[in-house]
Amino acid sequence: MNANKSEKTSQPSADQFSVLRVIISAVQNNLYMSLLLMAVTAGSILFSLLPPLVLERIIDMIAAGKKAGLSIAASYFMITAISGFLDAAKESMITIFGQKVTHRIRTAMSEKLNRLPASYFIENEPGVTASRFVNDVNTIESLFSSGVISMAADICKLTGILIVIFTKSTGLGLMLLAVTPALFLMTRLFQKRMLKAQLESRVAVGQTSQQIPETLNNIRTIRILHQEKYMLGRYGKTIEQGFQAQERSNFYDAVYSPIIISISALLTGIMMAASAQSGIIRQFFGMSAGTAAAVIAYVGSFFDPLESIGMEIQNIQSAAAGFRRISDFFKENEQKKSPGQEPGLPEKNTAVCLRSVSFCYKEGEREILHDFNLTVMEGESVILAGRTGIGKSTVIKLIAGLYLPERGFVTLFGRSPDTIPDAEKRQLFGYVEQQFHLIPGTVGDQISLMDPQVSGLQIEQSLRMTGLWETVCCLPQGIHTPCTENLFSQGQFQLLSIARAVVLNPKLLLLDEITANLDSATETQVLAALEAASRNRTVISVSHRLYGMEKNRNMRLITL
Ligand code: ATP
Ligand code: MG
Repeated sequence: MNANKSEKTSQPSADQFSVLRVIISAVQNNLYMSLLLMAVTAGSILFSLLPPLVLERIIDMIAAGKKAGLSIAASYFMITAISGFLDAAKESMITIFGQKVTHRIRTAMSEKLNRLPASYFIENEPGVTASRFVNDVNTIESLFSSGVISMAADICKLTGILIVIFTKSTGLGLMLLAVTPALFLMTRLFQKRMLKAQLESRVAVGQTSQQIPETLNNIRTIRILHQEKYMLGRYGKTIEQGFQAQERSNFYDAVYSPIIISISALLTGIMMAASAQSGIIRQFFGMSAGTAAAVIAYVGSFFDPLESIGMEIQNIQSAAAGFRRISDFFKENEQKKSPGQEPGLPEKNTAVCLRSVSFCYKEGEREILHDFNLTVMEGESVILAGRTGIGKSTVIKLIAGLYLPERGFVTLFGRSPDTIPDAEKRQLFGYVEQQFHLIPGTVGDQISLMDPQVSGLQIEQSLRMTGLWETVCCLPQGIHTPCTENLFSQGQFQLLSIARAVVLNPKLLLLDEITANLDSATETQVLAALEAASRNRTVISVSHRLYGMEKNRNMRLITL
């Protein structure tokens, strides 16, 4: 397959779906909400700066022997309440906005996933793709909940506090300005160490919990080989590692707050002592009692945004990595169109045609098929035979359009399989594999695959055809019974597989070793179902053993 990296850059621009574009379109689609969010954020910063100023006036009035009126007390209360309300509104709007963006990203990723060729799934572990959908998108969500927006808000708040303090006490302002870089570096250091310890703890906890099922699964081997002590030692070691990492994390957490409180107290003490001095020092530090109270409140709230900024930087860094991985996912090659020249019209009544087909799973690797030709006419039954690994299943998958040929072409009723819309495919062909693939849902869902064009009657008919109807009727909720791995035997699942393939009455049946793992009694049952399902259809099947059906039907054997 031509899944080479160089093609990534030559994708049509319409196919390129960048994360940034999703975010911009989310902002455009929610323009009013975005503007409101900005206004609420600005309001919340402004209102968070006001209460100490009102407090300053109240204390100064009291110190001057004036009576602080009810109105000023009420305004203090109102401002504090509004500040709290705006803060809560800001937080929930950021969360909603983040969810809207991640919802769009996940939708775009799902759409992309449907357009990816089978080679993508061969080359990439399912866990890697799942991690992009879950972890990487979560990091982008945290970019909103605790990333860029909140960082901008915190920087504004910090700047606001510094400006107010400068206007109230230049000396304290200068002192704060001087200690801020060192404080920030210290905060980052603590946060990095804490994060490292938390990650180590998580790894150790993961290893510890993994050992429990591992031990249970191998309990007999462990006992036979007298490895109990070794297993216990391993278990104890990971538990110890987890404890140590957790202790380190707790230590940094416990030590950070007292350091910050001490620095804050030290600065306040210096400021108070200096404001009691005379001369130039007093000029720098001098202030009224009310101003002192306000300034102490500001100093107290100065360290919170500083700490938050540290965490926000951390989140932005991990979001950047998630951002990059999702962007790479969007750049993955999509299902390419059939190579080579247009096939031209195959002979009339041709169900399947493979002409001069060459195919390999990975570029540069051994060709599984070379110049392969196969023509199957409508109504014909064909058996593909040949030694294991020769490429029988590969031929079936090429016909089903799961892979595209490297050279040559494949047509299905005169059309290239990759150009047939998904909704139409089930009416053209049914595909039964050796293994039944269970989907979450009821027995009926296993057959309809949640396709709204499949009616209840069609489900019943397909079950009757395969001889499974009576069995399903005996289930507690009939076809509405939730389907689990243990609900049916292997042979019954294979019958379900046939029902799934024929439910929309397709013109062609593709069967790949469907009786390979069955005992002879079940095999007879499955073959009978197959016999019924194959009537009036084109059938292409793969088998080491030739089915009994060839006695009754005119079957053509093709050896690869
Ligand atoms: P069997 O009778 O054992 O089912 P088969 O004739 O159906 O064999 P295929 O499954 O078509 O053989 O495989 C043909 C060759 O392609 C084998 O060498 C196999 O290793 C290789 N192959 C099959 N599937 C993949 C895959 N997903 N990625 C890479 N190579 C594959
Ligand atoms: Mg096979």
